Amino acid sequence: MQVQPERYVGRFAPSPSGLLHAGSLVAAVASYLDARAHHGQWLVRMEDVDEGRVAAGAADAILDLLPRLGMQWDGEVVWQSRRKHLYQAAFERLGAHAYPCGCNRREIADSRLGVAPDGAAIYPGTCRHGLPPGRSMRSLRVRVPEPGMDAISFADRLAGPVIQHLARDAGDFVLRRADGFWAYQLAVVVDDAQQGVTDVVRGADLLDSTPRQIYLQRLLGVPTPRYLHVPVVRNADGDKLSKQTGATAVTVNSAGEALAVLQQCARFLDLDVCSCADVPSFWAAAAAAWARRFVA
Ligand code: GLU
Repeated sequence: MQVQPERYVGRFAPSPSGLLHAGSLVAAVASYLDARAHHGQWLVRMEDVDEGRVAAGAADAILDLLPRLGMQWDGEVVWQSRRKHLYQAAFERLGAHAYPCGCNRREIADSRLGVAPDGAAIYPGTCRHGLPPGRSMRSLRVRVPEPGMDAISFADRLAGPVIQHLARDAGDFVLRRADGFWAYQLAVVVDDAQQGVTDVVRGADLLDSTPRQIYLQRLLGVPTPRYLHVPVVRNADGDKLSKQTGATAVTVNSAGEALAVLQQCARFLDLDVCSCADVPSFWAAAAAAWARRFVA
């Protein structure tokens, strides 16, 4: 009897707050290579849940660029802005694990509990047991376990074992923000589960978010995917490339430019792809190099 290959569903989930830069392209290339090396599916999801940060034309430009680099996704592109009902339903499933919070940013910063790895101030728990008199709801938060019960660990396929203590390192985190938009942490968990994603390959800037996502997966009773976080691309000053640090957009006007851009990504990912003559042979060589490194 023939053994069925294990199902593999990967994804690339750009935020259309700007065009792709070298850093976001590395995440796209790595996730695409992992899907190819596993003969799996590769989905594209537009993470436009934070509608205030969407840049006009950015999503279309990203969807135009990927095929010109030889990256074709499976199925329909999913848009977070059209799936708010799913986030609402997941929030309702959390029941008493979630609670309304009336604190503003300054009040939380004043508590001086420090900041979570993503820069958000750690919440002191003021509204954990109900909104104080006279306060109205601003955001919705999820309760994390008490210290001592709050460790979440997982094995990253590249970084190895990771452990985070949610009470100390993150605190009760936001599910729906004061501006009414659902938070990335909830949306990403709902979408990865609903799309059947088995493998998340993305930048190491999200390594610290993963334990919060695993915690939500457990509360919602959905599977935890495997994770592989690739190094982030930094500029000459050592800052992570982003719109804020003035990263330049990747543009491709010819097959030759596409090949050069892809080869740069492969070099960054430390993949030996020799000198390929064209884009299809690049992908074949890069997927083989990726498989040697990351696929048992
Ligand atoms: N939308 C996120 C970003 O562009 C990526 C989220 C993810 O891959 O989980 O940084």
